[in-house]
Amino acid sequence: MIVVLKPNVAAEKRDQLVEWLKTMGLGVHISEGVYQTVLGLIGDISKVDADLIGSLEIVDSVKRVSETFKCCNRKFHPEDTVVSVGDVKIGGGNFCLIAGPCSVETEEQIVSVAKSVKEAGAKMLRGGAFKPRTSPYDFQGLKATGIEFLKIARQETGLPIVTEIMSVSDLPLFEDIDVLQVGARNMQNFDLLRELGQMGKPVLLKRGLANTLKELLMSAEYIMASGNENVILCERGIRTYSDYLRNTLDLSAVPMLHELSHLPVIVDPSHATGLARMVPPMALAATACGCDGLIIEVHNDPVHALCDGAQSLRPEEFAALVKKVSAVREAVSC
Ligand code: PEP
Ligand code: MN
Repeated sequence: MIVVLKPNVAAEKRDQLVEWLKTMGLGVHISEGVYQTVLGLIGDISKVDADLIGSLEIVDSVKRVSETFKCCNRKFHPEDTVVSVGDVKIGGGNFCLIAGPCSVETEEQIVSVAKSVKEAGAKMLRGGAFKPRTSPYDFQGLKATGIEFLKIARQETGLPIVTEIMSVSDLPLFEDIDVLQVGARNMQNFDLLRELGQMGKPVLLKRGLANTLKELLMSAEYIMASGNENVILCERGIRTYSDYLRNTLDLSAVPMLHELSHLPVIVDPSHATGLARMVPPMALAATACGCDGLIIEVHNDPVHALCDGAQSLRPEEFAALVKKVSAVREAVSC
């Protein structure tokens, strides 16, 4: 249920109402907009008398929210959420490019790629230290050593780091990480989502290979209901009938997620297509349909990459793409 307050209600009166609602055992999510304040009520609302609340002097209207996701629902929070990572902002008109290799391989590799992507205009560095591989015989990531190399790359470039966490038991290693990525395969690892909710750091939540938008939003809800509002949603392709491509990039997810939720939405054209030459056109299409950023795999030597070389751009290809992304952003903003 949402309670929309009249404009310019005194803070004291608003707080009295919030306290009263809390005595009914409800959680109250307050969204202060420029024009209106919206109170989102979470919990068992079956005994709440909507007519009584609606009759209060400071209340403009009361609406029932039928969706099961509440905290991430745009009805609860009409304005875009802006997630801040140090000085970098994402969402609400702030576009963010995240780039780097699929996996951290050596200190030299991650530092070199970090420098090139920064030079090209990336605002954050990606790189996997823990890799969810389909085969147990494939490279599984450098784990703790990879995390240390990422921190060195951050020190060298100033770029915040984004890296994937696969298990709750690894959490202590991520205390100094800027953005924790939940990969497609872990989108419904609910224990992990709850822990990340308590940790409070920004979370980049990728859509699962065969998950609906509602399921993605319910996973975001796990993080947010545990107290963390810093969630970035990521469309990274889903399983359909694609034969020549790794996945199918569901670009219609971007405007739909923006309609349903206030959270920033980014797109990963690398895992969506699996082919480096498909990455630029899909990155531009994603930009045109209004995403808040892109996460792109870039490697200094894709042919010898230990993971996902075929979909990795070379630094110069990434730099050329960044220019086109800017041109598309300008074109669609007019
Ligand atoms: C990744 O970002 O390297 C990755 C494994 O992505 P996804 O979870 O989308 O497959
Ligand atoms: Mn990858």
